Amino acid sequence: MEKIALVTGGGSGIGLAITEKLVQNNIRTIIVGRNARKLADTKQQLGSLCETFVYDLSNHAGIPALVDELFKLHGHIDILVNNAGIHLKKEFTEVTDEEFQRILSTNVTSVFALSREIVKQMLAHDLKGCIINISSMAAQYGIPKVIAYTASKSAVEGMTKAMAVELSPKGIRVNCIAPGFITTNMSSSALDSDPERKQKVMSRTPMGYLGKPADIGEAALFLASDASAYITGVVLPVDGGNSIGF
Ligand code: NDP
Repeated sequence: MEKIALVTGGGSGIGLAITEKLVQNNIRTIIVGRNARKLADTKQQLGSLCETFVYDLSNHAGIPALVDELFKLHGHIDILVNNAGIHLKKEFTEVTDEEFQRILSTNVTSVFALSREIVKQMLAHDLKGCIINISSMAAQYGIPKVIAYTASKSAVEGMTKAMAVELSPKGIRVNCIAPGFITTNMSSSALDSDPERKQKVMSRTPMGYLGKPADIGEAALFLASDASAYITGVVLPVDGGNSIGF
């Protein structure tokens, strides 16, 4: 049976590179995001194995209906990549409760709600599957001015382990990729206006350069494939050594 993947935020940056890699390997891939134009451009670029669905994942109440509709349209989903995420760079004391909740709503609650609904359907359809979450260096060590983002990505890593122990016995592997500093719009907005931070990033990255979205695509393909059949509950840094750099 042909495999079908769902990649959140598949219309740009890391999500686009993951989608590209899955499609190149004949995996039909549904991408979900808020921006219809971005999704349509990606479909045009990647062709008929790429399917699009416009949805704002911070609308948690609608997620069960979304997943129901996707299963009705496509029959099954075997691979879920929880990639969509938002970032906030701001002094600790200036972050409001609303801003903190906004980051958690997209980066944590959506990941939980979407995974729960997909897993329910996988189990109901007697499917084996896998889930890949995306965390960050912010969950590996302390980075200043990203309190909400750090809380969210640390939660993603914790949820990966909690999901893996509960779901692996049912045939659903759950893993996480912790990207280092990868060249996308998100990292540009955090680094380009802050040469000091960029210098710090480079100085502790043994490989000496920023990663490409395709580096994460390769790791996601591995974790989605049978090549990783005995791997579950891991957080895989794909970071040029940034997380172990001095
Ligand atoms: P981008 O900003 O390029 O992509 C983020 C994607 O998430 C967009 O496609 C966006 O789509 C989607 N998205 C955001 N909010 C929502 C929402 N409410 N509903 C649906 N889709 C949403 O960032 P990156 O590609 O850099 O980041 C991808 C992931 O990788 C994130 O989880 C990020 O935290 C993580 N990461 C990135 C690193 C980097 O260096 N770039 C490092 C470590 C982790 P749309 O605008 O259409 O809604």
